Amino acid sequence: MKIQIEDKEFSCFLEYEQIKKRTRLLGIQMNVDYEDKLPVVIAVLNGSFLFMADLVKELTVPIEVSFVKLSSYHGGESSSGVVKEIIGLDIDLQNRDVIIVEDIVDTGNTITHVLKQIKEYNPASVVVCTLLLKPDALQVEVQEIAYVGFEIPDEFVVGYGLDYKGLGRNLKDIYRAISLPSET
Ligand code: 5GP
Ligand code: MG
Ligand code: MG
Repeated sequence: MKIQIEDKEFSCFLEYEQIKKRTRLLGIQMNVDYEDKLPVVIAVLNGSFLFMADLVKELTVPIEVSFVKLSSYHGGESSSGVVKEIIGLDIDLQNRDVIIVEDIVDTGNTITHVLKQIKEYNPASVVVCTLLLKPDALQVEVQEIAYVGFEIPDEFVVGYGLDYKGLGRNLKDIYRAISLPSET
């Protein structure tokens, strides 16, 4: 199915049923990995809000949840290299096992900044769980990525939390931009 958001056309790429199935498997793995632990699951807003909601419902180990945001927002579709500060953290992370939940890792710059700041609180451990990863776009190695929903091509995607110009976050499925002949 094709949809239009502002000036861009998108086609369906990952259906919610697939996302849910994959999320269930990630949850099963986490339940094993964090048996007898009490991790803090931190979602990086806004993009991860739906994934976070579905993921934590699959967890049977006790958890605490927290939500952070990056202080400056840049619209559009390209990842900027601007350093952003995490705000909104309301749990002391000292000696805690932390799971950072992200919607997407593209160049890896954003998550690298987030990890650096989280580590300043001296957690016992930190890993990243990202729904989407674009291996061909990665510019920095991120060893902390322990859970990946889907590896996807280096294309712009929208839906299930991810936006294009602020829109499309509420779409149940994930869509990818259809590149026009003039853009390729
Ligand atoms: P990175 O710093 O890893 O390059 O990019 C991270 C951020 O860029 C994501 O959190 C997201 O906000 C944005 N981003 C990267 N790729 C995409 C994409 O394909 N679609 C959308 N909607 N945002 C993206
Ligand atoms: Mg994100
Ligand atoms: Mg965005």
